[in-house]
Amino acid sequence: MDRKRVVLGFFALGCMAFMLPVALSIVLSRHEGLSQAQTRLDELSTDVLRRSKITRLQIDTAIAAMERIPIAEACTDASLQRMREVVADLNYLQGLGYLRDGKLLCTTFVQLAAPLELGPPHRVTLSGIFSWSAQELPGMPGARFNINSRNGHAALISPSLVLDTLPDPSVSLVHLDRNGVLVRSRGVYRREWLAGYSGKVRTFSDDAYFVTIHPADNLDTEVIAAMPLTGVDALVRSAALRFVPVGLILGGVLAGLVAWAARHHVSLKAHLRRALRRREFFLLYQPVIELRTRRCVGAEALIRWKRPSGKPIGPAVFIPEAEKHGLIQHVTAQVMDMVAEESKALIQRHPEIHIAINFSADDLHSDQTEARLRALVAATGGASHNIVIEATERGLIAPDKAQGVLMSMRAKGFKVAIDDFGTGNSSLSYLATYDLDYLKIDKSFIDALGRDTPGSRVAFHIVEMAKTLRLQMVAEGVETQEQHDILAERGVQFAQGWLYAKPMPMEALLAFVGGRNDDAAGDPLPA
Ligand code: C2E
Ligand code: CA
Ligand code: CA
Repeated sequence: MDRKRVVLGFFALGCMAFMLPVALSIVLSRHEGLSQAQTRLDELSTDVLRRSKITRLQIDTAIAAMERIPIAEACTDASLQRMREVVADLNYLQGLGYLRDGKLLCTTFVQLAAPLELGPPHRVTLSGIFSWSAQELPGMPGARFNINSRNGHAALISPSLVLDTLPDPSVSLVHLDRNGVLVRSRGVYRREWLAGYSGKVRTFSDDAYFVTIHPADNLDTEVIAAMPLTGVDALVRSAALRFVPVGLILGGVLAGLVAWAARHHVSLKAHLRRALRRREFFLLYQPVIELRTRRCVGAEALIRWKRPSGKPIGPAVFIPEAEKHGLIQHVTAQVMDMVAEESKALIQRHPEIHIAINFSADDLHSDQTEARLRALVAATGGASHNIVIEATERGLIAPDKAQGVLMSMRAKGFKVAIDDFGTGNSSLSYLATYDLDYLKIDKSFIDALGRDTPGSRVAFHIVEMAKTLRLQMVAEGVETQEQHDILAERGVQFAQGWLYAKPMPMEALLAFVGGRNDDAAGDPLPA
């Protein structure tokens, strides 16, 4: 997968990682709001049913007590006094009274000048109580009473008592008997709420209300509690105030984790580590030609990296990254391993040939480098002169340590070349400090040859300086015959470049060296 798609994939994953907890917190808030609304409606309904049950019991108690008073004594002062005593202990009852032929004759708390016609009862309960809802009594304008009677004895109750003691006035409460006849209500009541009700607890919403219907234990009555949807929304919002910030934080953390994983996954450093583990690097070798004889005197090992996706990455990109992240010594170790493995046949067939290996500053500062090089030489069955250590000016900048390592190796017969000469901004003082074998003239100066530019003049100065220092020269990146001729004429000994050969695998190099060097020496070969 290419980098862009991986990044896009991670971006999508990051978005999901952020959205998921946020979406979840919104869903949870809604769920929590609804469940709070449900709990509140359940509590209110249960409370109404509990109060109505107490009321019913008190009605029964009161009527049972009154039934002991002979009906002939009804409405006498003595019986009214007795009734007042009975009602004093029953807190849900407003008063008691007597009924005959559908007419209320007297009550304990309001005097009736004439019998009050009630008409047919609104309801008859399972226990044989006849009930009239919301009756107005003379002398008590505005007040309404539910009248419940059996055998002429009546209990009078304020219909609001069962409902109004409860908080939350925005909730509608409707108390109905088993036939759906209204016993008492508060707030809005829509008859269609009963449509799907079948004697079991039911919860639903319509366009404006969240509604529950609870039956009483004995199924004699039921209570509808309805909360406006605006009230539900307020509960959802207050739950959201608690849940959504947590969702946002969690989403942020998850997205951060994905970003971290993405960075890790797509970072070149992580890829380099994997490449080292999986040995994704390989070498190509570019022949170094002796200008005078045109023979191949050696080759420079150049690292290549082919990602598992097949995509090649140039050393100019990943070598600086490996240096930056402290991985270059592992890279160099693998290069040395590969040279050891691949160049045995070449060195044995051409004992004078050299393989040049590029070393970075860290390699030159490490004591392990020498041991590794010795192991390499031993593995090829060659000698130390078969290896050229290429060091850039940057690698020589901290001279103390590098000098120790380099000089020790040079003393053991390894050759040392200064690479990319003239491109670093170091002083030339290291030329006096180090004993070197080769100076590699950077391609940028070779490119300038044949043109009357400062670059070409610098090239000649480098040539003269190398001669003064008695260093042999390797011209890098020779692409034209003209460059070749100028270099040969100026006394440069060696060159590498596309004019002669591009970097190639070891097998091809073996054939190349065989073809070049086994020809009659001295014959001018075509470039
Ligand atoms: P370098 O050491 O200066 O290597 C020479 C570069 O010039 C190579 O590029 C080579 O392929 C290229 N080259 C050779 N002849 C021509 C030519 O005629 N024309 C043109 N246009 N280019 C030519 P490459 O292989 O891409 O390497 C780039 C740099 O990466 C190297 O520059 C070297 O600094 C570094 N490098 C390569 N292999 C290794 C390695 O094994 N270890 C370390 N530390 N660095 C390496
Ligand atoms: Ca080099
Ligand atoms: Ca170079």
